[in-house]
Amino acid sequence: MKRNITIKKKITLWFAILLLIIVSVVMLLLLTVSRQVLHQDIKGRLKALVEANQEELEYLNLEDKQDSDEGDHFIRYQGGYLEIDDDFCDYQDGISVGLYLDGELIYGENPAGILPEDCAFLQQQMQTEEKDGEKYDVYDVRVNGADMEGLWIRGVANQKEGVTLLAKVVRLMLPVLPVLALIAIAGGYLIARRGLKPLDDICMQADQIRSGTDLTMQISVADDCTEIRRLKGAFNHMLKRLEHSFASEKQFTSDASHELRTPVAVILAECEYALEEKQMEEYEEALHVIARQGQKMSALIEELLMFTRMERGTLRLHMQRINLSRLAEEICREQEKAFGENPKHIRVLTQIRPGCMVYGDENLLTRACSNLITNAYKYGCEYGHIWIRVYCRKAGIIFEVEDDGIGIDREDLPKIWNRFYQVDSARGDHASAGLGLALVKEIVELHGGYTQVQSEPDHGSLFRIVLKEG
Ligand code: ADP
Repeated sequence: MKRNITIKKKITLWFAILLLIIVSVVMLLLLTVSRQVLHQDIKGRLKALVEANQEELEYLNLEDKQDSDEGDHFIRYQGGYLEIDDDFCDYQDGISVGLYLDGELIYGENPAGILPEDCAFLQQQMQTEEKDGEKYDVYDVRVNGADMEGLWIRGVANQKEGVTLLAKVVRLMLPVLPVLALIAIAGGYLIARRGLKPLDDICMQADQIRSGTDLTMQISVADDCTEIRRLKGAFNHMLKRLEHSFASEKQFTSDASHELRTPVAVILAECEYALEEKQMEEYEEALHVIARQGQKMSALIEELLMFTRMERGTLRLHMQRINLSRLAEEICREQEKAFGENPKHIRVLTQIRPGCMVYGDENLLTRACSNLITNAYKYGCEYGHIWIRVYCRKAGIIFEVEDDGIGIDREDLPKIWNRFYQVDSARGDHASAGLGLALVKEIVELHGGYTQVQSEPDHGSLFRIVLKEG
């Protein structure tokens, strides 16, 4: 089953997950790094405090004691006094410092109760000691002043001190982060919704066009971003093409029925006439007319079928290498026979370069070339000429038919390739329906080639077929 997830939801979900992952990773990194930094910092402070306290101790003789400072602390020591300056710091920011004489605490603090029996004094070395499930950093310094022996200063710091600070930061950040993530997700959703709104509009309008009958309608949405502008353009372009192809299909159907209606009407009229007149000659004449109209209809139906098959791709092609030069000569001979007595006395001149090869279907190409020659004859003037040329150029193999006939007006030139288009239906013969050139174009394009025309009224026309060399 297809899940009904919109792009908006997908984008929002993706950003929400990504955001959560990024925030979690950053938090984790931050915690790890800051934990280490804090630990390092506490170790540094422990060391510094213990070392500094060493400077606050002095041994005094009995006589010297009289001159000493009031606030200082005195402990009897080796026949004299040990003077502990009042700057001796026994507690600072979670660090406790104690002064030991022969393993006994004589001054300062030892709240964790880390005794020298459990953790021996080690000169200027950072030790880690565990007591009651908690970890402590321990740093000792031997007092090395004159006359001072057996004295150690020990500093102890609970490693938890740094962690506690960190825990406070985390506790502060924890409620803020989900709120920030929620704001980011909501913002992302709103932006995605706004950004994709034109898409919804396009869908709605496309639906309207689909359910209506007006194909001239166009999509109109605010296109302030490139993607939407391109989509809108593509849609409108497609609608234009659809409209155009529907219109030409309609035109085609109406033209085809019109072209078929005329011969049918003639046949029916001839039948009625023949049934009324009982004379043999009238019968014969009516039958001739009916036969001609039947032939015209048959030719028209055959051409229509050909168009349909070419469009649907169901026309069976026999593609092969063809010697177009030889084919052109054959067509010329055939056409000469077809012109019969040549009442217009037109002269056909050929300039055919031998050995011009193309790849294609012989029947279709014969049809295309014959149509051009027939037209040149049809629209040629009395005692005129037709030039038929085959030659080879960089663009491909060229088949050319030129005449010095009636020519075509400039404004009609683009339309002559359309189906059923006739510049003037009175000037051709009655058998033609305006499909000849459309068929030529279709056949040539089916072979990957193209057509060209040059014409001047009263001077003549030149039709050219360009095919790929085979
Ligand atoms: P038709 O059956 O009317 O000949 P075509 O498709 O062959 O239909 O030609 C379309 C129109 O182009 C014709 O009606 C004619 O007016 C014009 N035409 C075609 N070939 C020539 C030509 N060689 N000289 C002048 N006009 C031509």
